[in-house]
Amino acid sequence: MLKPPVYLDNHSTTKPDPRVVAAMMPYFTNIYGNAASVSHKFGWDAEEAVEKARAQVAEALGAEPREVVFTAGATEANNLAIKGALPFLRRKGDHVVATAVEHKSVLDVVERLGRETDWKVTIVPCDDAGRVDEGAVLAALRPETVLVSVMAANNEVGTINPIRAIGELCHGRGIVFHTDATQAVGKVPLDVRADHVDLLSLSAHKMYGPKGIGALYVRRKDPQVRIKPLFDGGGHERGLRSGTPAVPLIVGLGEAIEIAAREREADAARLRSLRDRLEAAIRATVADVTLNGHPTERLPGNLNMSFAYVDGEALMMAMRDVAVSSGAACTSAEPEPSHVLRAMGRDDDSARASLRFGLGRFTTAEEVDYAAEVVAKAVASLRVHSSAWAASGKMEPGGPHPS
Ligand code: PMP
Repeated sequence: MLKPPVYLDNHSTTKPDPRVVAAMMPYFTNIYGNAASVSHKFGWDAEEAVEKARAQVAEALGAEPREVVFTAGATEANNLAIKGALPFLRRKGDHVVATAVEHKSVLDVVERLGRETDWKVTIVPCDDAGRVDEGAVLAALRPETVLVSVMAANNEVGTINPIRAIGELCHGRGIVFHTDATQAVGKVPLDVRADHVDLLSLSAHKMYGPKGIGALYVRRKDPQVRIKPLFDGGGHERGLRSGTPAVPLIVGLGEAIEIAAREREADAARLRSLRDRLEAAIRATVADVTLNGHPTERLPGNLNMSFAYVDGEALMMAMRDVAVSSGAACTSAEPEPSHVLRAMGRDDDSARASLRFGLGRFTTAEEVDYAAEVVAKAVASLRVHSSAWAASGKMEPGGPHPS
């Protein structure tokens, strides 16, 4: 039985998988030692759990366990990657490249560098599907470029970037390559060696794990990438991230990433088919919708659409039983149209008219059908009050809907 509200906001965060919660529980209760306590069994048990998780993360990425640093999430991992790597690269050059579609935890870091320091920054544009290809990155490179940051998959429109080709380009020139793979891990194939990645950020809560834990992969050979820590302290995580390890959360991340890697293909196939079902149902009942994002190179659970003549915020309010996101970031009092949709060339109206559906491991066909129905009714009820819609003379497919 369907019990609204329906959760279709899986790019924001995901429901912890019960298997992950079960794996974490003992570390909230009986196994509570400090993993840094080296003199007794309580500490050893905690440390064993942390090292098991480190191996699970490494295995999923094609890395070695000693290349994995636990952080409080992807925001911290992105900050540590960029702010940590740059001091060691300065003698080689003073130029950093990132893309216009990055998450704010990358974009704000590099923009601040460009504004407040003498680092030079180039922001690479994306195409109208939100994709940044190797040609666009190549065009931004200079002899002084020392670091390139390109996200593996976008959190708003789901577009997947050609990480391997970009990594190859960087490695051929001795440039450090960072990728924010927060939305990609467990959803698209990734292998830090084959993809020529030097630094990779991830977060557990986007893959059915707990919030507040993530990791940064830091390459240790061919070449070794050096990182300066963000915090001073007890020297945990090989000196790269001081602070008592969050053992239960780390265990959760390990379990979540192992499951995500093991079940990736099956999950992706199921999600893709549900996502396509949602798109088809919406298109069958709502006129004038456009897809935002790449038609094929896209995360399997992502559907981002603009509904002409409708404001995304108003649309969300009219469909409170379906949890989605709009293409406007409410980081300020005035909702700003998404920087990603703007970078894709969408005008403000189209960006404001967008909704992001994020399907996940626990989404059902029944929920998708319900969501499509709710969307159709909500759009129709808003368009009834739109003079621009009336003037357009357009009709919803299948005739008018009751509101
Ligand atoms: N990068 C991307 C692409 C994201 O989607 C997010 C989460 N919205 C982050 C970074 C930040 O992750 P966290 O919540 O773990 O800090």
